[in-house]
Amino acid sequence: MKTSSSTLIKLLVLLYLSVLSVSQEFDFFYFVQQWPGSYCDTVKSCCYPTTGKPEADFGIHGLWPNYNDGNYPSNCDANSTYDPKKVADLRSGMQKNWPTLACPSGSGVAFWAHEWEKHGTCSESILDQHGYFQAALNLRRQVNLLQALKNAGINPDGESYSLISIRSAIQEAVGFTPWIECNADTSRNSQLYQIYLCVDTSGKALIDCPVFPRGKCDSEIEFPSF
Ligand code: 5GP
Ligand code: 5GP
Repeated sequence: MKTSSSTLIKLLVLLYLSVLSVSQEFDFFYFVQQWPGSYCDTVKSCCYPTTGKPEADFGIHGLWPNYNDGNYPSNCDANSTYDPKKVADLRSGMQKNWPTLACPSGSGVAFWAHEWEKHGTCSESILDQHGYFQAALNLRRQVNLLQALKNAGINPDGESYSLISIRSAIQEAVGFTPWIECNADTSRNSQLYQIYLCVDTSGKALIDCPVFPRGKCDSEIEFPSF
C-alpha cells in the first residue's frame, strides 16, 4: 500500500513537470505581415516570385513563437526540415498569401522552409508542419489589414499618415492593438513595413500582445504603393 501511494505521488510529480515543460515551450506567437511595397522600394530592392508579381496586399512573413519577456526561441529541431509534400494542399494559398520577395526570384519554398525551420520548429509540440502553415493562412484570412486601413482612408499611395491613425484603424477593425514596424526607402523616409499581431499558443485566437517588439517609427510614416 505504502509503495503504491509513493509511486502514485512520483507519477503525479512527473506528470506535473511534463505539463509544465510543454506549456513553457513558448508563451504566444507574433503573426507578422509585410507590405510588399516597403520591402521592394529599399536599397536592397526585391525580386518577384517565379509565379509572378504578388497582389498589392499584405503578405505573411511568419508566425513566430515568443516569450513574454520579449526573447524568443529559434531553430528548435534540426531534424525537422521543411517538407513540401506535407503542405501540398496549402501550396496555392501560400503562393498567394505568403509570397517571397527576396532575390534571386524563387518559388517561395526557400522562404517557407526558413520560416518553418527557424520559427515553426519551436511550436512543434502544438502545431505540426501542416498545422503551422494552415494556422498562418487561417489568421491571414481572419485579418484583412489592407481593408482596415482603406476603410480609415489610409491607402497605399505614397502619402504619409500618422502612426497613431494607422494603429487605431487596425485596432478598430481587428479589436487588438498591433505593433507597427518601419523601414526606410531609398530616400530614407520612414515607411510602414510590417504589422505584428499576437496570437495565443493554439495559433488560432488573437490576443493582446504580452510584450511589443523593439524599434521605432517616425510619428508620420509613408505607405508606399506596390
Ligand atoms: P530583424 O532583426 O530584421 O528585426 O529580424 C530578423 C528576424 O529575426 C525576423 O525576421 C525574425 O525571424 C526574427 N525576429 C526578430 N524580432 C523577433 C521577435 O520579436 N520575435 C521573434 N519570435 N522573432 C523575431
Ligand atoms: P526572418 O529570419 O527574418 O524571419 O527571415 C527572413 C529570411 O527569409 C531572410 O533570409 C530573407 O532573405 C528570406 N526571405 C525570403 N523572402 C522573403 C520576404 O518576402 N520577406 C522577408 N522579410 N524575408 C524573406
